[in-house]
Amino acid sequence: MSQNPTPASAGDRLEIERDVVVIGAGPAGLMAARTLKKAGRSVAVLEARPRVGGRTWNGKVADAQGREHFIEIGGQWISPDQTRLIELVDELGLETFPRYREGTSIYVSPDGTRHEYEGTTFPASEKTQAEMDQLIATLDQLAAEIGAEEPWAHPKAAELDAISFREWLKQQSDDQEAIDNVSIYVASGMLTKPSHTFSTLQAVLMAASAGSFSNLVDEDFILDRRVEGGMQSVSLKLAEELGEDVILDSPVRTLEWATPDESTADPLNHVPADVRNGVDNDGGPGSVTACSDRAVVRARYAVLAVPPNLYERISYVPPLPREQQIVHQHLSMGLVIKVHAVYETPFWREEGLSGTGFGGGRLVQEVYDNTNYGANFAGGQAGQEDPFGTLVGFVSDVYAEQMWKLSPQERQHAILSAMADYLGPKTMEPIAFYLSDMAAEEWTRGAYATSYDLGGLSRWGHLQNQPTGPIHYACSDIAAEGYQHVDGAIRQGEIAAQRIIERG
Ligand SMILES: Cc1cc2nc3c(=O)[nH]c(=O)nc-3n(C[C@H](O)[C@H](O)[C@H](O)COP(=O)(O)OP(=O)(O)OC[C@H]3O[C@@H](n4cnc5c(N)ncnc54)[C@H](O)[C@@H]3O)c2cc1C
Repeated sequence: MSQNPTPASAGDRLEIERDVVVIGAGPAGLMAARTLKKAGRSVAVLEARPRVGGRTWNGKVADAQGREHFIEIGGQWISPDQTRLIELVDELGLETFPRYREGTSIYVSPDGTRHEYEGTTFPASEKTQAEMDQLIATLDQLAAEIGAEEPWAHPKAAELDAISFREWLKQQSDDQEAIDNVSIYVASGMLTKPSHTFSTLQAVLMAASAGSFSNLVDEDFILDRRVEGGMQSVSLKLAEELGEDVILDSPVRTLEWATPDESTADPLNHVPADVRNGVDNDGGPGSVTACSDRAVVRARYAVLAVPPNLYERISYVPPLPREQQIVHQHLSMGLVIKVHAVYETPFWREEGLSGTGFGGGRLVQEVYDNTNYGANFAGGQAGQEDPFGTLVGFVSDVYAEQMWKLSPQERQHAILSAMADYLGPKTMEPIAFYLSDMAAEEWTRGAYATSYDLGGLSRWGHLQNQPTGPIHYACSDIAAEGYQHVDGAIRQGEIAAQRIIERG
């Protein structure tokens, strides 16, 4: 076996020369490619899957009569703070529609009691509500003070990164219900990891990236609008503009990014060159070669637009600097099941319910009316709402693990029963049912996104957006504003492209 990997031969693959090769045709990669192309740079986008859009994906699920219903398997909602995505949706000529939210919502308290409420204040006891308000106010203050741009650089970073979010909440309050309800907004609701596995600094970043912690709490804000025809339409439109520059079914296996300087090689451990992170002449701009299943692209720069948990699927020649190899091991995906249940009608509306249900610490912790609007490939007409009613629910972290251990029938029954706690027995009889399972997909491996383990953000965050020679990184998971969201992906794609343009 060769110790210094040799460049893969092109064989019968396409051989392409471009200014920039973009790896990954999710929203970040496509936006990077669009921005570069607009600035006169030639690009090629290599995508592992047979489709574009990454974690945004329009799907269809059939009912017993063979009628197909439109579902959004991945990301779908846009909140008002996600201004770059809102602008882009408009630029691309796409329309949006608001989530249905008329009527009363349901809160199921820890003892299983069902309460109807209006607005965003749960019918919890006065003491619990006061504790929640206090926790939210403290987190708002920390988010405002620390911000999303460089949380690792704040004087409180190390301290807040050394304590898990759960432990921190327990230090602030002795009200278990308040702790459960506040923790869900970041833990099961966003990072999709138990709150003892990530730090308070990570929770503050999540809040700051959305404008404030109060914004995360307000489902009318955070789950405001959807794109008619689905969020994947954003990527489909961007890919349409890029045309043949997007190459599908083409996972990148090897990325040659610097000419190893043999004088710095270590013959003992067979490292071909001692490339140092952030050192100008170590792998500066000039030459990268991305070898994928269908194409070999030679370029001056690469944009690595894949989630950080997948960086290590690519072999780098020479290996990445040691710091970069370490950083990526501290970023891991969360786990969540997005549940889609379709009904002949949105029956809950007839009962005066909005379809919104919430219960911290329950198997399905959130349920919403997800009825479609406008034309889509599986039914629906422009300017009108679908006649069928759709509910969306979420089963997060440890509950998702439990559910995947069950048979499909047991799983469906358990999940629908938990949703019925909010919206009643009719919930048990959907005409179509589907569970999003991006954890099983090789080119995502989890949901919604990646986040740091305890202590990782303050120690390694400063490196996540630092280019490695000619390689620039772009992904929602390393964004400031719009972190873990499509908006963050779009911003990251643009930033990476701008930096390359500035480098010339
Ligand atoms: C179930 C679910 C629900 C979500 N809900 C929302 C929501 O409501 N609102 C919201 O804003 N966000 C939501 N998100 C998050 C949102 O979808 C992501 O933040 C966004 O898609 C990230 O875009 P990206 O381009 O950074 O990464 P991705 O979308 O992951 O794109 C990366 C691309 O890289 C490709 N790739 C990976 N490895 C390679 C390789 N070696 N070679 C070539 N290609 C490769 C992948 O196939 C993929 O197409 C949700 C995500 C999930 C999974």
